[in-house]
Amino acid sequence: MAQQKMLQFVRVAKETPEKREADDRAQDFGEIYAEFAAEKAAEQASRCSQCGVPFCQSHCPLHNNIPDWLRLTAEGRLEEAYAMSQATNTFPEICGRICPQDRLCEGNCVIEQSGHGTVTIGAVEKYITDTAWEEGWVPPIAPVEERSESVAIIGAGPGGLAAADRLRRAGLQVTVYDRHDRAGGLLTYGIPGFKLEKDVVMRRVEQLEKGGVEFVLNCNVGTDISFDAIRGKHDAVLIATGVYKGRDLTGPGAGAQGIVAALDYLTASNRVSFGDEVPEYLSGALNAEGKRVIVVGGGDTAMDCVRTAIRQGAVSVKCLYRRDRANMPGSQREVQNAEEEGVDFVWLSAPNGFAGDPVSSVMVQKMRLGPPDASGRQSPEVIEGADYAEPADLVIKALGFEPEDLPALWGEEALEVTRWGTVKADFRSHETSLPGVFAVGDIVRGASLVVWAIRDGSEAADSILDFLAQPAQVAAE
Ligand SMILES: Cc1cc2nc3c(=O)[nH]c(=O)nc-3n(C[C@H](O)[C@H](O)[C@H](O)COP(=O)(O)OP(=O)(O)OC[C@H]3O[C@@H](n4cnc5c(N)ncnc54)[C@H](O)[C@@H]3O)c2cc1C
Ligand code: SF4
Repeated sequence: MAQQKMLQFVRVAKETPEKREADDRAQDFGEIYAEFAAEKAAEQASRCSQCGVPFCQSHCPLHNNIPDWLRLTAEGRLEEAYAMSQATNTFPEICGRICPQDRLCEGNCVIEQSGHGTVTIGAVEKYITDTAWEEGWVPPIAPVEERSESVAIIGAGPGGLAAADRLRRAGLQVTVYDRHDRAGGLLTYGIPGFKLEKDVVMRRVEQLEKGGVEFVLNCNVGTDISFDAIRGKHDAVLIATGVYKGRDLTGPGAGAQGIVAALDYLTASNRVSFGDEVPEYLSGALNAEGKRVIVVGGGDTAMDCVRTAIRQGAVSVKCLYRRDRANMPGSQREVQNAEEEGVDFVWLSAPNGFAGDPVSSVMVQKMRLGPPDASGRQSPEVIEGADYAEPADLVIKALGFEPEDLPALWGEEALEVTRWGTVKADFRSHETSLPGVFAVGDIVRGASLVVWAIRDGSEAADSILDFLAQPAQVAAE
């Protein structure tokens, strides 16, 4: 079937320039051109000039062999393309959907830099792996031999799952602990379904389960089981707990009803998409339908909130960000998507207080960009006397996340953390200050990206295998 689809590509590649130009404007052909995906994937792949200086590859955190799997895709050799892409990426269909490609591989495509529009690398990666699942080319996880050593992974997000995959394939006994009722971390409860369909995540979780990875869900380490008990039960431990302490808003009225945290809002929406009954959604507390919504923040979480609010049927959605468009941390592609969907960006503005309880309006302070600070970034300064009241029924705080205080929560003061509270771990081996304990993903990097968590998880798995190959060290513990 895939072969047949590929033959059609040859015809499509000869279509009019107008059609191709229109197609190129569609950034995610998987969603928009579902029935043309094979043709479009091959067409895009064939645009790769095989330039010999693959900046795309060096700017992909996994150093995916992009030019080679694009060539295989263009030649219709999809199964080989899939095998090559999977060899360096545990979850290519997930990265293909949600990596900020404009800042990574695609932003460094030579064709993009010559002004002809990037090869849509992420969409091709997504397409070849989705096809591999459809065609039955994704083999189950089947270790060649069973080994007796066991590893605990705390946190079932992409970092933990990538490590689980690698360790289980090596035959280790792997147990993943997570405080949520479903695995996936932010893939499941943070990132909205319109960017990452939940069945795509659950398919990977099932693959791990079928391959023998044990999941202990609804288990908050530090409350339901102690960190010490976990260390006692397993030969090595991987901490992959992410960062979850949301930064808060201050100012008069900041505690009013209707001012909610981004992750509570997104989690409720994601739970609804799983078919869960969510009282806060049903009551309207975490539901934007019929409301004037203001989202505060300029990162990718803020973009997810504004786009979710639009889909829930908000009357209006405004995004307040204290810097300008050029200086916002979120992906420009996401901003463009949000604007096209009707979100109003109010640049150079920040909340300075709230009226009503439940909230009825936000006092908005206007800002300008001042001189650069120590980091070289221009600091926002308040423009005095320019405040105004913006009506709002729901205010969503999307100001970023910080790590929880793990040494205190887990009663493990010997677990060293940085001054930002992230766990200190060697950047190559991912070993922490505790022997046999490794750490990866956001809890080490601070709020980061899925693709970095996957890379860390795979690297840490290799380090754990090395660690377990040294029995003297294990015995010494
Ligand atoms: C709203 C939102 C949207 C995002 N969108 C994107 C995007 O589009 N693209 C992208 O690349 N990145 C995105 N990110 C960032 C990305 O999701 C993270 O960088 C990535 O998920 C980090 O992976 P992780 O494995 O380190 O942690 P997480 O995915 O956060 O997983 C950590 C897991 O640990 C569990 N846990 C925590 N503490 C405990 C405990 N004490 N006991 C048991 N379990 C525990 C949590 O329940 C969670 O399941 C987004 C983040 C957010 C918040
Ligand atoms: S993993 Fe991300 S950065 Fe790497 S090729 Fe895929 S989409 Fe691009």
